[in-house]
Amino acid sequence: MPVENAQAGRPVAEALRADSEAEDSSAPRAWLTHEPVLVLNLNYVPINICNVRRAIILVGKGKAELLENHRGTLRTVTAVIEAPSIIRLVYLVKRPFLPRKLSKKEVLLRDRYTCQYCGKKSQDLTLDHVIPRTQHGPHAWDNVVAACSRCNLRKAGRTPVEARMKLVKEPRAPDPNPYLILQNRTILDSWRLYIPWNIGL
Ligand SMILES: [Zn+2]
Repeated sequence: MPVENAQAGRPVAEALRADSEAEDSSAPRAWLTHEPVLVLNLNYVPINICNVRRAIILVGKGKAELLENHRGTLRTVTAVIEAPSIIRLVYLVKRPFLPRKLSKKEVLLRDRYTCQYCGKKSQDLTLDHVIPRTQHGPHAWDNVVAACSRCNLRKAGRTPVEARMKLVKEPRAPDPNPYLILQNRTILDSWRLYIPWNIGL
C-alpha cells in the first residue's frame, strides 16, 4: 500500500478537524499535499500518479490543467489554492511502453498476488520456476509464476506434470499496458471516468 494513500480513507470527523485547523494556520495541511492526483496525457489516457503538491506546481507552470477538484483548498501565507484530484497535461507525452523488467514484485503484480497453482490470494508469495532451474528452465516471464510457499514446497524441483499440479494460467510477459500504473493503487471515485471498466482494477 503506497504511503501517500494512507490518508485516503480518513474519517470525515478527522478531515473536518483538519479543515478547521487549517483555518487557524497559514501552513498548508501536510497530509493533503501528499494526496494522490491522477495525471492524464493530452489524449486523456492516464500517464502517472503524482501528489497534490506536484500537481499544483504543474498547473501553476501552465504545463497541466486542473480537471477535477474534490479535495477542498490549501491555504498558504498569500493564497488559497484548489487541491486537484485529476490534472491533464497540455502537451502529448509520447512514451514508449517498454516490456517490464522481470522481478519478484512485477511477477506478483502480473499474477495479482495469487498463487498460480492453488489460486490462493496472499501478500506472502514466492516465485516458482515452472520448469525448475535444475532442469534448465529459464528465468523468464513465461517460466516464472507466483506460488504460495505450500505449493512451492509441494512442487519442489519438479515440473507441473511431474508434480501433478496444474497452472491456473500459462505465464507470459505482461502487456505493455498504460493502465498498469494504476495497479495496486487506491483508485479515487473521481478517477474512474478516465479508466476503462474492463481492465480489472
Ligand atoms: Zn498455492
